[in-house]
Amino acid sequence: MNEIEITDVLKRYFGYQNFRPMQKEIIMNVLNKKDCLVLMPTGGGKSITFQIPAILQDGTALVISPLIALMKDQVDGLKANGVKAEFLNSSLTSAEITNIETKLLGGEIKILYISPEKLISQYFTNFLQTLKISLIAIDEAHCISRWGHDFRPEYTQLDFLKRYYPQIPIIALTATADKITARDIIKQLRLVDVIPFISSFDRPNLSLNVLPGQKKIDKILDFIKTNKNKAGIIYCLARKTTEEMASRLKAEGYSAEFYHAGMPAQRRNEVQTLFINDNIQIICATIAFGMGIDKSNIYWVIHYNMPKNLESYYQEIGRAGRDGSRADTLMFFSYQDVVTYRSFIAESPNNSEIEYAKLQRMQEFAEAQTCRRKILLSYFGEYLDKNCGNCDVCNNPPEHLDGTIIAQMALSAIVRLDEKVAINMLIDVLRGARKTELLQKEYNKIKTYGVGKNISFNDWQQYILQLINQGFIEIAFDQNNSLKITEAANRVLKKQLNVTLAKPIYKNFVDLNQTKDKEVLAKTKIVNDSLFERLRILRKNIADKDNIAAYLVFTDATLEQMVIYKPTTEDNLLKISGVGAFKQKKYGEIFVKEINIFLNS
Ligand code: ADP
Ligand code: ZN
Repeated sequence: MNEIEITDVLKRYFGYQNFRPMQKEIIMNVLNKKDCLVLMPTGGGKSITFQIPAILQDGTALVISPLIALMKDQVDGLKANGVKAEFLNSSLTSAEITNIETKLLGGEIKILYISPEKLISQYFTNFLQTLKISLIAIDEAHCISRWGHDFRPEYTQLDFLKRYYPQIPIIALTATADKITARDIIKQLRLVDVIPFISSFDRPNLSLNVLPGQKKIDKILDFIKTNKNKAGIIYCLARKTTEEMASRLKAEGYSAEFYHAGMPAQRRNEVQTLFINDNIQIICATIAFGMGIDKSNIYWVIHYNMPKNLESYYQEIGRAGRDGSRADTLMFFSYQDVVTYRSFIAESPNNSEIEYAKLQRMQEFAEAQTCRRKILLSYFGEYLDKNCGNCDVCNNPPEHLDGTIIAQMALSAIVRLDEKVAINMLIDVLRGARKTELLQKEYNKIKTYGVGKNISFNDWQQYILQLINQGFIEIAFDQNNSLKITEAANRVLKKQLNVTLAKPIYKNFVDLNQTKDKEVLAKTKIVNDSLFERLRILRKNIADKDNIAAYLVFTDATLEQMVIYKPTTEDNLLKISGVGAFKQKKYGEIFVKEINIFLNS
């Protein structure tokens, strides 16, 4: 097998002209029967690294995946490209299973997706011995490790694979593994002479934005306006919020639904399918939504609440822009989120220092005053040598002011309140509020009462957060979140140390993104182009008729290419990225016809 042959398969079955970084090398290694570990971000293109060797070799490739929804998507996608694939998991009837087993025995299946539960059953391991296996791919391989963030005990039993099939290459794939997890994967699967392929985790097409968690609804509505008709997800911490958010958006005329683990499974599937098939624009969901969703045309992700760690954050925003188009992400941050997570961790039976540390890193990211992508990538062990130019900090560097007096007011109030109050009460005292509890406790009698009334409540919130970040104030989470001053704070109070603060930001998303580059504007134009609309409608009609997701016909990126190059013959259509021989035959005529009608009208 040589490079020309594999490139030919890439074109013929998947319609792509070129490999992405590392894909070719991984494929060649698998073809040479070598074990591989593939660490690539979501959307990086992991699937074809085992699909192409599977197509090229005799026998059946086993793909082990814990995600039933993902299996169906992947199999549908492969079938749409003319590859013989099936899946086996608990969602099938026994008749369906028998049917697939017959096909397997007849050598009619090139790629078999299978859940770990199914694979490790005694019956199936015996059945497997009668088949010719070409390779074994283990997707979501981080699930094998207790150090990873999604441990699945069934995965630890997969070590039998190497013992039973020492000659068959194993390829372990994941989008989320730090060094410890990566080592653990290799050890537990007993991989030998492993060749690691670790690609950059950077997703430059995702814009990163963080806004203070005040007036969230207004900001969300603004944001969605700039993403008209584009599919997106709003992640919320509480189930109730997902429901409220969805009904609010519906009231504003958007097509939106909610999704959380408290709903019946059937309704969950229904909502998920509606979203995948472009029948709903917006999903308001808890983190229960999205595992294994391979929808390439999600263009934005909002975090109504801060996620609990950067792995989750990256995985969730990573669901946007999978086809490489520009996608926007927006996260709201408020101190309440930190308090909530800390109490979750404290209450969980095996609360660990690691979880607190991860939360801390998440918070540092949210409060960053320097390029966010640098911080994010450094968490995953990568170094970015220049600022990204596609995050809110790069687009709007913060302005600073001398905050010494502001800091002194807050710190001295904390001292006079005997370090007994939490953030909101502190602000009320500084602003001279006349609330019942405050008056009952006679906080209106302390010397700093009302000294900060010229500063708004919201500004105070942001200043105090900064003082916490800069190490002048600490929160005693175990004492009703009361604020304490630190050693460094004493130096500020004694006028030995000056404090610099950033001006509070009240920008909305549109202000943050005025500096969109030309390429982005060009993209926006393409999407508004009426040919794009026509092709989109055509695609939707075909998908509805065949009862498959629209992106399985062609992705948005492929439609955009058609709008740019306007192929008027089926031969030229084949040159478009994403159009393989199978799809050319199936859809070529009808798409070329639509383009010709557009050009002649
Ligand atoms: P992952 O499993 O790493 O999250 P996928 O394998 O699902 O990512 O690939 C993400 C998207 O990129 C898919 O739509 C896939 O068809 C596309 N893709 C993969 N390889 C290429 C390539 N060489 N050229 C263009 N698109 C590609
Ligand atoms: Zn940046």
